[in-house]
Amino acid sequence: MKYPPIQNYINGKFTDTASSRKMDVISPLDGNLLSTVPMSSGKDLDDAVKTAKQAFEKWSRTPIKERVQVFFKYKYLLEKNLEELSALVSEENGKTMGEAIAEVEKCIELTEFACSLPQLITGEVLEVSKGVECRTEHVPLGVVASIVPFNFPSMVPNWTIPNAIALGNCMIIKPSEKVPLSCGRLAQLLKEAGLPDGVFNIVHGDVEIVNAICDHPGIEAVSFVGSTKVAKLVYQRATQNFKRALALGGAKNHLMVLPDAKPEMTAINVAASMSGCAGQRCMAASAMVGVGNIDHIIDKICEEARKIVPGENLGAVISKESKERIENYITEAEQQGAKILVDGRNAKVNGKEKGTYVGPTVIDYVKPDMAVAKEEIFGPVISIMRTSTVDEALAIENANPYGNAASVFTQNGGLARYIIDHASAGMIGVNVGVPVPREPFSFGGWNESKFGVGDITGKSSIEFWTKLKKSTTKWNPEAGINWMS
Ligand code: NAD
Repeated sequence: MKYPPIQNYINGKFTDTASSRKMDVISPLDGNLLSTVPMSSGKDLDDAVKTAKQAFEKWSRTPIKERVQVFFKYKYLLEKNLEELSALVSEENGKTMGEAIAEVEKCIELTEFACSLPQLITGEVLEVSKGVECRTEHVPLGVVASIVPFNFPSMVPNWTIPNAIALGNCMIIKPSEKVPLSCGRLAQLLKEAGLPDGVFNIVHGDVEIVNAICDHPGIEAVSFVGSTKVAKLVYQRATQNFKRALALGGAKNHLMVLPDAKPEMTAINVAASMSGCAGQRCMAASAMVGVGNIDHIIDKICEEARKIVPGENLGAVISKESKERIENYITEAEQQGAKILVDGRNAKVNGKEKGTYVGPTVIDYVKPDMAVAKEEIFGPVISIMRTSTVDEALAIENANPYGNAASVFTQNGGLARYIIDHASAGMIGVNVGVPVPREPFSFGGWNESKFGVGDITGKSSIEFWTKLKKSTTKWNPEAGINWMS
């Protein structure tokens, strides 16, 4: 085992859990055992909530300009430790080193945004009648929880950590049991940056601890990122307990390719979008709808896909089960009459035989009712459907229950605008394969890709992590009393 057994992080210290249940942490790159992760109990969560509540007293009363100083230092520490943090991400998640570096660079951008929060959350004040002032201010909620998935061990935690904490909350994070290492390292960096003990805590575990978070009376808000099935459960359970909740779910993102699209640029974007992070991105292109004759573009997409080599510029998928599931989707589509143009099944990487790799896969002549067209595959696979009109393409996109992202590739501005207006997704790209809004814009999908109001990052996150205090004041008795004072 490469690393010592993972521990929870409570009140600024790594601590053992009372529970004896644990799971192995395996590197998808080569199948090696990295560590074990504890499946914490409700008692561990109680301890974390207690310490976070105590820390909240002081942290919430620290002026925001002072609070963000921690994040200026944290940003510097992320930069200083970029290589090491990226190596950890790659090792536990299976993505390539280049992708892991991009992930940590995104953490830096997220932290940069949090450092700007004092500029963004100024309240409002107005003299509403003679001598009477109304004023609003954003105040923190209290102890909040963040439950995160496996596909971005560092970035998704950093979607919530800097903003929620800079805004004055104290946080308990529940990392994915598949990639629990990065969060521990982030905890060390936060402490080194000067974050007081108890403000940030980690409780590892699985469904039991997630349910305990949703039920805990000491937790005010729950943010969740993961599959739609679990997002629904978490959103329902947390809101049933009268908590504020925002639950981001899975995705099935459609790229619409029009015949006038620039072939080379489109092919490079499509191949990168479907295969980046081994297709394990909630923003990955998973379905492509070709409008009219786009054979020349499909040829180029295949050419690009063949340049993507597992173990070189393509990472591993998270587990053996995941690899099997993805390969079964490909086989089922083939059996149903789709044509596999580039086949990533049975990928092997020399010297890493226990690594879980799937090669890039391009499937053509997919029908909209096939599973590969409808379901989230979460692997480096693109399913191509063909239509004759833009409206037919939009009908396919609109019919899918998710709504994270959609993109169009065209040189026609009018049609691009029409697709922006009619696609049913929260994040739309024009000639962009992965239309992630960068800070200060906020990230969030629609439909079954997100439950709850607002978005998780950017300016929109301010509303989620704070509540508004409205005060009405009057200091001049000579102004008299009127109907509203
Ligand atoms: P997951 O839903 O299996 O797990 C997410 C978290 O929920 C983990 O911490 C896990 O321990 C916990 N969990 C798992 N099953 C649970 C259950 N039955 N009850 C309570 N908690 C449970 O997701 P994953 O496999 O880790 O991540 C991949 C999924 O996340 C994909 O569907 C992907 O699209 C989605 N995702 C979405 C976004 C987005 O922004 N919408 C971003 C990243 C990932």
